[in-house]
Parts: sequence; structure tokens; C-alpha cells
Amino acid sequence: MRIDIVTGFPGLLESPLGESMIARARTSGAVDIVVHDLRDYTRDRHRTIDDTPYGGGAGMILKPEPVFECVERLQAERTYDEIILTTPAGKVFNQELANGLSLKDNLLILCGHYKGVDERIRQALVTLEISIGDYVLTGGELAAAVITDAVVRLLPGVVGDGESLLTDSFQDGLLDCPYYTRPPEYRGMKVPEVLLSGDHRKIEAWRMAEAEKRTRERRPDLLAR
Ligand code: SAM
Repeated sequence: MRIDIVTGFPGLLESPLGESMIARARTSGAVDIVVHDLRDYTRDRHRTIDDTPYGGGAGMILKPEPVFECVERLQAERTYDEIILTTPAGKVFNQELANGLSLKDNLLILCGHYKGVDERIRQALVTLEISIGDYVLTGGELAAAVITDAVVRLLPGVVGDGESLLTDSFQDGLLDCPYYTRPPEYRGMKVPEVLLSGDHRKIEAWRMAEAEKRTRERRPDLLAR
């Protein structure tokens, strides 16, 4: 898979995409992630990517020209399955959406910034709008990092034991169960006996029951679905 991310603030993506599992996925070739600096597509001395809004009002707006020129250059090189705009007005991101995107070959993510992006970008270029939740971020970079992380960890070979993905929260409509590691007792808190029993059928049944209990207590809406 290849993911292109277009932003006026590439530095914001360096650490989230340059550490841990995502960094290893890039090194192993499971994913090719390329971050593009919108300012490379400007023509003025100050490398301006924003301007004041027509009609007045507070805040600046991401200009259309650098975005169109960058996206068109990328489109000349490959066909994108989705051109995603990060926006609070988008479809709320969830595991189902991440699963679907992980099956694509080429994704392009546009990071908004400032008060908003020129509406013509959305109209002419974007095929999917995604929000990562009902709150407002400074820019779309962290949203792009969240989407990229959730998608890349689903790609074959990225998570060491791929089976572990299947029991993650939301994959089977449940929250994940509690986990313990050594020592068997810590500060008076004991690991449940069943987990030390070596009886894998009982352990499996305990985990399923705990996942259901946790989901019922915290996210009954998931069970209702
Ligand atoms: N005025 C906009 C509004 O109220 O909907 C918010 C603009 S926000 C300060 C700047 C940029 O951050 C947005 O254009 C978008 O790209 C990104 N952004 C902010 N919140 C987001 C969210 N919840 N999900 C995805 N992107 C978000």
C-alpha cells in the first residue's frame, strides 16, 4: 500500500509516522508513506498557503492553488482509491472504516489547517471526508496520523502475530478483555486463577465473558449493533 499525505506542516507528522510499528512497516516495505509539503507548490517568496476568507471574518483559509497543483502532480503518477480530506464535518472514523481502507492500494490524505480549506478543494478533489471525533484540532495532521496508524497496523505482516488483530476492540463488535503479565501477584493484586491454569479452552471462555462484560458495562451501544 502507498499513502501520500499532503500538508503545510510536515514536521507534525515526523514522530507519529517515524517510530515504533509504523516505522518498521515502512522499513519492511509493507507500506510506503510519503509526506508532501504544500509549500513546495507555492510560487511566492513567502511560500504562502493561506489567505483571508471572502466575506470577512476571523481566521485564514487554506488556498486552493497549492493543493490542486500538488494533488494533480500526484494523480499524474498513480490512481488513488480515495482522496481523503480530514475535517470535523466528515464521516466519523472507526474500525470498520479502517478495515475498508486497509484493503486499498493508494490513499491520499489532505490535511486541512487554519479556519478551514477552500471549499473548491472538497468539491473537485476529495472522494471521502473523515473526522476523527467530535472535537476540533488545530490541523488535520494528527487526524492523518491517526488514520494512517489504524490502517497500517492492519496490513499483512505489520503486527507480528496477525491473529491478535482479530481480538482487538471493535473487530468483533466487542471491547477487548483485560490482560495480565508477570508477576502473578503485585501489591496484593492477584492474576485471575484461570489465566494460570494452562487450560486454553477455559482461558478462551473467560476472555470472551470478560470482553462481553466490559462491553456491556462501558459500551452497550456496541452490543446493540
Ligand atoms: N472551522 C473548522 C470547523 O469548525 O469545522 C475547524 C478547522 S480546524 C481548526 C483546522 C483543520 O483541522 C480542519 O480543516 C481539519 O483538516 C482538521 N481537523 C480539525 N478537527 C478535526 C477532526 N475532528 N477530525 C479530522 N480533522 C480535523
